[in-house]
Amino acid sequence: MSEHYKGSCLCGGVAFEVNGQMRDVVACHCIQCRKTTGNYMSATAAEDVNLRLISSDTLAWYESSPGNKRGFCSRCGSTLFWKGPERTYTAIAAGCIDGPLGKKLAGHIFCDFAGDYYEIAGGEFRKGQW
Ligand SMILES: [Zn+2]
Ligand SMILES: [Zn+2]
Repeated sequence: MSEHYKGSCLCGGVAFEVNGQMRDVVACHCIQCRKTTGNYMSATAAEDVNLRLISSDTLAWYESSPGNKRGFCSRCGSTLFWKGPERTYTAIAAGCIDGPLGKKLAGHIFCDFAGDYYEIAGGEFRKGQW
């Protein structure tokens, strides 16, 4: 059965769909993800060829470090996307997927930078296919 997902920001200015497989969720505790999300980034991912923007009226991109871009809604502030250089996939904030995602938490990355107010439950994510 082919996978299909929809996602959106809080205000609806950005909406998208994914026709194809999505990755299990990876939690990133790096400083940039902590700043941009207010806690840490839990992201699934989709191959770019499977990702289609339905509405991008308020989509804005911030280059958080050279070549690394973060997509967010310029109206409601929702964290949405992360795109690295020469990557064929886009990381997508798990919380902006509408309805059940049907994936599990694969693990954590950049654990050394995690906040001191929470415990990391589960193992470190080993770099896989994406
Ligand atoms: Zn929005
Ligand atoms: Zn990060």
